[in-house]
Amino acid sequence: MPLSAAETITQLTGIIGADFVIGEPQRMTSYLNEPRKRFHTGAAAIALPGSVAEVQAILRWANANGVGIIPQGGNTGLVGGQVPLRGDEVILSTARLDRIRAIDPAAGTMTAESGVILANAHTAAENAGVILPLWLASQGSARIGGVLSTNAGGVNVLAYGNARDLTMGVEAVLADGRLYQGLNSLKKDNTGYDLKNLLVGAEGTLGIITAATLKIFPQPEDYETAMVSIANLDAALELFQYLRARARRRLSAYEIIPRLGLDMQLRQGMLDRDPTPGPSPWYALIEVARLTKGASGTLMAAIEGAFSEGILENAVFAESLSDRTRMWAAREQMSEVQSKEGASIKHDVSVPIAEIPRLISEGIAAVERLVPGIRPVPFGHMGDGNIHFNFSQPVGADPKAFMAGAEPIHNAIYDIVLKLGGSVSAEHGIGQLKVDLLRQVKDPVALEMMRSIKTALDPNGILNPGKVLGF
Ligand SMILES: Cc1cc2nc3c(=O)[nH]c(=O)nc-3n(C[C@H](O)[C@H](O)[C@H](O)COP(=O)(O)OP(=O)(O)OC[C@H]3O[C@@H](n4cnc5c(N)ncnc54)[C@H](O)[C@@H]3O)c2cc1C
Repeated sequence: MPLSAAETITQLTGIIGADFVIGEPQRMTSYLNEPRKRFHTGAAAIALPGSVAEVQAILRWANANGVGIIPQGGNTGLVGGQVPLRGDEVILSTARLDRIRAIDPAAGTMTAESGVILANAHTAAENAGVILPLWLASQGSARIGGVLSTNAGGVNVLAYGNARDLTMGVEAVLADGRLYQGLNSLKKDNTGYDLKNLLVGAEGTLGIITAATLKIFPQPEDYETAMVSIANLDAALELFQYLRARARRRLSAYEIIPRLGLDMQLRQGMLDRDPTPGPSPWYALIEVARLTKGASGTLMAAIEGAFSEGILENAVFAESLSDRTRMWAAREQMSEVQSKEGASIKHDVSVPIAEIPRLISEGIAAVERLVPGIRPVPFGHMGDGNIHFNFSQPVGADPKAFMAGAEPIHNAIYDIVLKLGGSVSAEHGIGQLKVDLLRQVKDPVALEMMRSIKTALDPNGILNPGKVLGF
């Protein structure tokens, strides 16, 4: 017999105390409302354990009683992985597991609990004279456990890799309450299967991450940042390859931004002035980290070289912190401005970098055939082959009617992505949004392997039920 919501609340209260169990619907809203505003199911309760032992006790109880547990960090996920699907699940918030356990600049490691907010981990690193180079627009809310569980990317993947690349070890509670103590910081460890990499990116379906040992790096002396005008995406690709060959690993960001997205931000009053060197259909926001004193000028010299070879049209360099902040705001506000401009249809996709110009030109042509007047706003991490291929509704269109026509648009984009050898989820994951899509596009043998792993580690299906694999 499944437990009623009242029984669930009473029994959870017995485990972690009444102060840390939320059962009233009105107090649950901040845990249930997710950024995409697409999923609206209630939950039986919210549990806020304050220690790893309490997480273990909750999972032992849930496993014995068949209660679905949804791990939740900052609730910034964009595919509905952190919110309920059925309505009888318990959301387990990691908010109280928020200690930095250790930081060792000499060893280049930081061990943080899963509920540490990413921005707080940045501050702790900076206070120790180092950086944790995982930068996302959601870093003020996203928590370490959520960032690892979605294998988040962000704007620095080019130089430092994604969350998986930055994780040395994890500690996690398994479905039956056992603790996997994998917090090692070894560069070399060939003792069998890579369990850390199984838990990172599992979106809470295989275990609840309670802490992680992360890589930290020396703080750059400074950054050189520029906004560059580019006539077309072939030139953007050529410029990326040119800069990469010169700045190598110091090239830490190469983001593309369409003019349309900047015009939207200026119209909506989100930028105090235009951060670009002048009108152009495309821009690249480029950043190079200066690692040692007196080594500036790398980006300027490379851009001058590219200019003299006719690869780029114009460039403006950040001359102050406020210039740099404005340039980055122009990039980071791209998603937000679209919600101010009405409804938008979004795709987080990746293709081999050389295919980005084709992805964008074929994608825009296919979608404009479907919806004349649609406003394409593709932007993002060109240096990683990852584009947020978004479309805003035509000016004056009815948002509901526009969203009702989303499926053919998704199909058109995903067909092109798959034809070009790409992925239908580059950095946001599967959650509940892309469960059907995953079934359609993933290699059947890979799906079988994933199902076997899920069944072996969570035989009663209590961990984030229905997400990723659909059970
Ligand atoms: C404005 C904005 C900008 C963003 N920019 C980026 C970006 O540049 N790059 C990028 O990759 N993503 C980005 N995202 C998506 C999102 O911020 C990331 O996916 C982030 O990593 C999620 O962290 P979170 O703590 O909010 O996780 P949540 O949303 O709480 O959870 C996400 C998933 O992880 C699981 N989970 C959470 N904690 C744990 C845990 N301790 N153990 C096991 N499973 C857990 C949840 O069940 C869920 O499936 C952005 C989102 C927003 C709103």
